[in-house]
Amino acid sequence: MLVAVLAIGFFYYNARRLVSYLQLGRAEDRTDHPGVRLRNLLTIGIGQSKILRDPVAGAMHAAVFWGFLVLTAGTIEIAMQGVYPAFSYAFLPSPLHTLYLLSQELFGLAVLGAVAWLMYRRLVVKPARLQGDNLEQLDALIILSLIAALMLTLFLLNGFAIVSRPLTPADPARVVSRGLAAMLAGLSQRRAESGYAATWWAHVLLVLGFLNYLPYSKHLHVITSLPNTYLSNTSGPGRRGVMRAMDLEAEGVEQFGAADVEDLSWKSLLDGYSCTECGRCTAACPANITGKALSPRKIVIDMRRRLMEKAPLVAGDTDGKRHTALVHGEGSPPPTETGSDVLDRRLLDNYITEEELWACTSCGACVQECPVSIDQLDVIMELRRDLVLMESRFPPEVQPVFQSLERNGSPWAFSAADRGEWARGLDVPTMAECVSQGRRPEVLFWVGCMGSFDDRAKKITAAFARIMRAAQIDFAILGQEETCNGDPARRLGNEYLYQMLAKGVVERLNGYNVTTIVTTCPHCFHQLGNEYPELGGTYEVIHHSQYIERLLAEGRVPLAEPPGRRTTVTYHDSCYLGRYNDVYDQPREAIRRALPMVSLVEPPRSRDRGLCCGAGGGRMWMEEREGKRINVERTEELLRTGANVIASACPFCMTMLTDGVAAQNAATPVYDIAEVVASRLAGAATV
Ligand code: SF4
Ligand code: SF4
Repeated sequence: MLVAVLAIGFFYYNARRLVSYLQLGRAEDRTDHPGVRLRNLLTIGIGQSKILRDPVAGAMHAAVFWGFLVLTAGTIEIAMQGVYPAFSYAFLPSPLHTLYLLSQELFGLAVLGAVAWLMYRRLVVKPARLQGDNLEQLDALIILSLIAALMLTLFLLNGFAIVSRPLTPADPARVVSRGLAAMLAGLSQRRAESGYAATWWAHVLLVLGFLNYLPYSKHLHVITSLPNTYLSNTSGPGRRGVMRAMDLEAEGVEQFGAADVEDLSWKSLLDGYSCTECGRCTAACPANITGKALSPRKIVIDMRRRLMEKAPLVAGDTDGKRHTALVHGEGSPPPTETGSDVLDRRLLDNYITEEELWACTSCGACVQECPVSIDQLDVIMELRRDLVLMESRFPPEVQPVFQSLERNGSPWAFSAADRGEWARGLDVPTMAECVSQGRRPEVLFWVGCMGSFDDRAKKITAAFARIMRAAQIDFAILGQEETCNGDPARRLGNEYLYQMLAKGVVERLNGYNVTTIVTTCPHCFHQLGNEYPELGGTYEVIHHSQYIERLLAEGRVPLAEPPGRRTTVTYHDSCYLGRYNDVYDQPREAIRRALPMVSLVEPPRSRDRGLCCGAGGGRMWMEEREGKRINVERTEELLRTGANVIASACPFCMTMLTDGVAAQNAATPVYDIAEVVASRLAGAATV
């Protein structure tokens, strides 16, 4: 009893200390969308849906996790027997008790098998994503050994229990322990009882030791992963990666964005506690895959190390400093270092470099892959905001983008008067013209800057307009009243500029009482639909791939006879359409409906595992100086499918893939969904 009180007391002390470190972070409300949160907890947390995306390693980890949940009931029974020897769950109805005993045995065996496999993988197979420093390796091996020892002592103590007392009707359910009991059958009663007592103590001490080791280990996630999943970033069903608007006018605020851990939200800091260091995020990161310095895993580990370094000093916690030195060796202060040395450092620059931050395409693959719902992108964007808003540090090629957004309302130095040039001869009215005629069109076609000014993208814009015309949709454009919606500024960390642009757009759209918007650009689609409501702009926003698919399904687009030849098409998922908004099926379905003889072939990385084209997060306007070009990596993969046509549904992806095809000296055409469908309109040239 005394041992248990001391051990639990020590654990409580450590838990309180770690919780107090979270209070260093910014306040943030994470109580919205309780239904979505509960669903995430049940599917991602308890159901281990993300872990199971890796069928073998995932199944092993899930076995350990589920095993822990099931075996906790047995651990309570065993611990209680130390205080009340007669305590048992035998009061349960017989079938339930038998099921309970069987579950303990089978899950114990599954955990033991999984631990052996995980140990083998770490020591022999050594996958790249699991490679860390020596301390990380040691920590992982200690944890795996502790789990194995827990399972072995569990089976042994059950074996001794069976030998030292008369058989009970439930004992046949102890399928593994009975095998052990058979081996121990020759022991005298006294020896069997001593064996039971020794293994009971060993098991209980291991449980208490494990519990108290967790706060000093990366395996703290055993405790934090479920709350972390419940509290993860959610903006509602099907909407991910939504950036929250900063209050730029709040009084007394001296810091915009994050330069150090106290500028991040407490939830980001909890993410740091929850990281399993599994490396799934980094293995999916297009920047890392192509040889850039960025590793989302490192971003999270750096954040935790910096917290462990700084928080004890801020909290005046000397034990915490010892904790840091013990566990987080790489990032902890050397013994000679003073507190002021530590306080002089910060997360930005001393841990995470500018180069890492600007390499991010904001593709969201890291967030998608993380099994414990960590939001690495949130941290990257907060640090970018500090770089831009507080320190005016950004790649030189971004400067003209900011200037042009400010002066021309477009990331390129084009005149607003030319925005509607693409529509010349297509008989597309503007909202202003419609209003002057006393009518309000059903749909606003938001063209976007790429669609208005880029020569290749203008063809997509015109193709979509032709489809809507053919389907007799009553639509209009803003023409020269349209400006950039601000998305590039926001992704590049310039929240001031973003809000200036976005508020202007909201005012214009609300002025026209716009209710339904269609757009060919996934970035505009995401921004207008998911991020504008916070600024007072709430509209039904539909991506053109969804809209076209709907029109085709309703038979509203008059198509010519289908081409007699078979075509093979591979479709590239845009990150802002797919991962951010779960739009995967409609673009594919639109292609199938337009080309009945088509064979759709998927590249190895597709749908929510699709590889970014390299243009997101403002990367469209930055040089790619380090490593292989992301668009080349992606295009090579698409070309390897052997398809006759590469299809996309984003003007940014179009540019990157077209460049990628040219870099490969390949002749495979890249078409937008709208172009594929428009080519089937009566009288049009076939794709
Ligand atoms: S958002 Fe994409 S590019 Fe950025 S860190 Fe995550 S995976 Fe890498
Ligand atoms: S952030 Fe998530 S995916 Fe990345 S290493 Fe940590 S737990 Fe794994």
